[in-house]
Amino acid sequence: MKEAEKIKCLIIGSGPAGYTAAIYASRANLSPVLYEGIQPGGQLTTTSEIENFPGYPDGISGIAMMDELKKQAARFGTDIRPGIVTGCDLSQSPFQVTIDGKKSVEAKTVIICTGATAKYLGLPDENKYMGMGVSACAVCDGFFYRKKNTAVVGGGDSACEEALYLAGLADKVYMIVRKSYLRASQVMQERVLNHPKIEILFNTNTLGLFGENGVEGAHLIRFAGEPNEERFDIAIDGFFLAIGHKPNSDVFKDYLDLDENGYIQTVWGTTKTNVAGVFAAGDVADPHYRQAVTAAATGCIAAIEAERFLTRG
Ligand code: NDP
Repeated sequence: MKEAEKIKCLIIGSGPAGYTAAIYASRANLSPVLYEGIQPGGQLTTTSEIENFPGYPDGISGIAMMDELKKQAARFGTDIRPGIVTGCDLSQSPFQVTIDGKKSVEAKTVIICTGATAKYLGLPDENKYMGMGVSACAVCDGFFYRKKNTAVVGGGDSACEEALYLAGLADKVYMIVRKSYLRASQVMQERVLNHPKIEILFNTNTLGLFGENGVEGAHLIRFAGEPNEERFDIAIDGFFLAIGHKPNSDVFKDYLDLDENGYIQTVWGTTKTNVAGVFAAGDVADPHYRQAVTAAATGCIAAIEAERFLTRG
């Protein structure tokens, strides 16, 4: 049998956490190998403008920023490869990791930066109209809704961001918000509340979608279960989900401690998991902050901790 490739520091994922870990690990001579995962560049490649990453006073597009981070990691010698981790055995060191179901590598340290994936409501109609009006990424698909009517589900920062992006293209954007208030930051709330094309439907949930050859509208319910409950339809061409994310931790669940929502648990203030030599950084281990800058910071910590683990045990 072919011998597995031996790696000192394996980094899984290519968002801000993965690339920052790569920059630090390569500068520390750990010869890191980074597998990019399902979405090279991570979630930021589906964001429009990043306004809150320090060092970009005029903002920067998500794709441009991830491109710069990739170049910076490559400059110091990170071996960046396409590939998805499909299996692992973290029961003993060196750790066995399978890529794309076929290639095996043996890693002395593993830094998991697999991020998180958009959630859906779980309505059968979401599957029925997937790619035919249902999307979880306005930046990816908003172009198809120029001068049309759209709806965004959610009341957090992501939903506001998606709604504002769509408002730049579409004629009308509804925000379907299940509570009586938005959860988003003050600045984002003000922007959506003051936008002439955005109408916020508070206390409202989605029952289903309808349409012949794609989404033509949504069945909604306001004040569900209350005396003033009301059912009504809106005419829309695009239905966008922005209701949060699920951490991409499934492949590691047999070995690592996860919280009740699937986030990898780390020792407070570090990126150490319950397995010595395995570290987790970025959104896969962060139910609280989920920012590009915090992901980058934990990627840095993970690389420093991996270096210390390799030299001091
Ligand atoms: P959040 O968890 O903050 O918000 C999710 C929203 O979706 C909430 O309004 C929630 O409602 C709603 N929701 C959840 N489940 C359902 C459901 N089944 N049906 C209807 N509505 C539902 O997620 P975000 O992705 O918006 O943000 C995640 C983190 O990333 C936050 O910390 C945010 O600040 C940050 N972020 C920052 C940005 C920026 O600074 N520019 C941009 C994007 C994200 P409810 O409030 O009722 O729970």
